[in-house]
Amino acid sequence: MNRSDGGGKPEVLVIGGGATGAGVVRDLAMRGVAVTLAERGGLSAGATGRSHGVLHSGARYAESDPTGAAECIEENELLRDIAGACVADTGGLFVSLEGDDDDYFERKRDACREVGIDAEEVPVAAARQAVSGLSADVSRAMRVPDGVIYPSRLVAALAADARGHGATIRTHSPVTDIRVSDGAVTGATVDGEHVDADVVVNAAGAWAEGCAALAGVNVPMQPTKGVMVGVDYDGVGPVLNRARSPSDGDIAVPHAGRTVLGTTSVVVDDPDEYERGDEEVQRVIEECAAMVPAFRDAVVLDDYWGVRPLYAPGERRRAAATADEPGTGEARGISREFTLLDHGADGVAGFYSIVGGKLTTHRVMAETVADRVCDRLGVDGDGRTGETPLEAADDPERLDRLVTAFDARSPADADIVGGVALEE
Ligand SMILES: Cc1cc2nc3c(=O)[nH]c(=O)nc-3n(C[C@H](O)[C@H](O)[C@H](O)COP(=O)(O)OP(=O)(O)OC[C@H]3O[C@@H](n4cnc5c(N)ncnc54)[C@H](O)[C@@H]3O)c2cc1C
Repeated sequence: MNRSDGGGKPEVLVIGGGATGAGVVRDLAMRGVAVTLAERGGLSAGATGRSHGVLHSGARYAESDPTGAAECIEENELLRDIAGACVADTGGLFVSLEGDDDDYFERKRDACREVGIDAEEVPVAAARQAVSGLSADVSRAMRVPDGVIYPSRLVAALAADARGHGATIRTHSPVTDIRVSDGAVTGATVDGEHVDADVVVNAAGAWAEGCAALAGVNVPMQPTKGVMVGVDYDGVGPVLNRARSPSDGDIAVPHAGRTVLGTTSVVVDDPDEYERGDEEVQRVIEECAAMVPAFRDAVVLDDYWGVRPLYAPGERRRAAATADEPGTGEARGISREFTLLDHGADGVAGFYSIVGGKLTTHRVMAETVADRVCDRLGVDGDGRTGETPLEAADDPERLDRLVTAFDARSPADADIVGGVALEE
C-alpha cells in the first residue's frame, strides 16, 4: 500500500540532478506532487554540464532521425519562450566543403523542411560574414535555427522553480540503495538516510544502469565519451556545423570569450573511469580546423569530457564486437531518442528509468515521466512546463546566484555564468 492509498500525500524520489531529473522534479512539483531530488554531486555534474550545450534545431539529425528532429525543433522553439537567459539565440550554420557530398547537403535541407525546421541555403559570402576565417574550401552553406543552452543556469532555474512549488532539492546526496517490498518500490537510502517513496524515478543518465541495479533491475546502457575543447577564438557567430553524417570534430559553438569545439563519441565501460587522451583533443581541433583553419593555431583554453546516457538493449554486444579493443567501440549509430522504462514489468512497481535523449529535449522527457507517475498516483492535471517561464529566466544575475546555490557550475558555460558567490 502506498501513502496515496492510506490518505497521506504520495512521495516521489528522483535520482539525478541533470536536466532530465531537474525537469521531472519541476513538472511533478508544478502538478502538486511531493517530490525530492537526490543528486550525488552538485546539480548538472553529469552530461548536462559537460555537453556542447547546443540548443539543437534538429537539423543535425533531420535526415537520419526525423522523429527526433521534429522533437528537437518543437522543444527548441518552446525553450526560447520559457528559458530566457538560459539560452542564446545564436542561429546555426551548416557548411559543406569542396569534396563533401552535395546530395547529403540537399537531403539534409529537404529533411529539415519536411519536419518544420526553417533551413535556408545562403550564399557562401553571407556565411563568411557570420563566421570570420571560414575556410576557402566552403562551397555551400545553410542557415538553421540552432542556438546555445547554458546548462548550469537551466538546471538551477529548473530546480529553483521546483523548490518554489514545494520540492526538496538535495545535492551531494548519493542514492546507495533502493528498497523493494512485495513487488513495489518503498524507498531508498539517500546520503545514508532512509527515505520513504511510493515512486522512484531513475534519471541518473549514464549511471542509470548502476542505479537500476540497486533495485535488482537491469537497464543496459552504452555510455559514450566525448571531448569538448575551448579555444581562444571569438569570430564564430552562429553554431557552426559541418554538413556530413555526425562525426568527430564537426561542431563549433560560440561562447563569450571562446569557441567550444567538439566532439568525439567513443564507447566506455565505466562513466566515471575512462581515458582522457590528448589524441582525441587534437583530433577534434584538426577536424574543426577544416571549417575554420585558424582553430589549428588558437590557444587552447580548456578541455572537458562528458558521457552520453545512451540506452542500448542489444547494442552493447554489437559495439564491443566492432571495437578494436574493449571500451573503444564507435557508437554514433545508437539512438539519441529517449526511452521511459516502467520497471513494473520487471517486478518492481513504482520504479521508472528515463534514459537517452538530449539536453534540448529534457522538458518533453520530463513531461513523459511525470504523466506516467501521475497516472500511477492518480494525480489529475496536465503538465504546464511548456507554457510557464522558468524562475528567474530573464534575470541573469539571479540565475547565476542560483547556479552557485545549487553548486551547478559546470565547464560547458563556465565563461558565461558569473558565479556570483552570494547564496540564496
Ligand atoms: C560530449 C557530449 C556532447 C553533447 N552535446 C549535446 C548538445 O550539444 N545538445 C544537446 O541537446 N545534448 C547534448 N548532449 C546530450 C546531453 O548532454 C544529455 O543527453 C543530457 O544532458 C542528459 O541529461 P541527464 O539529466 O539525463 O543526465 P546527466 O546530466 O548525466 O545527469 C545524471 C545525474 O545523475 C547523477 N547520479 C548518478 N548516480 C547517482 C546516484 N547514485 N545518486 C544520486 N545521483 C546520481 C549524476 O551525478 C548526474 O548529475 C551531449 C552529451 C555529451 C556527452
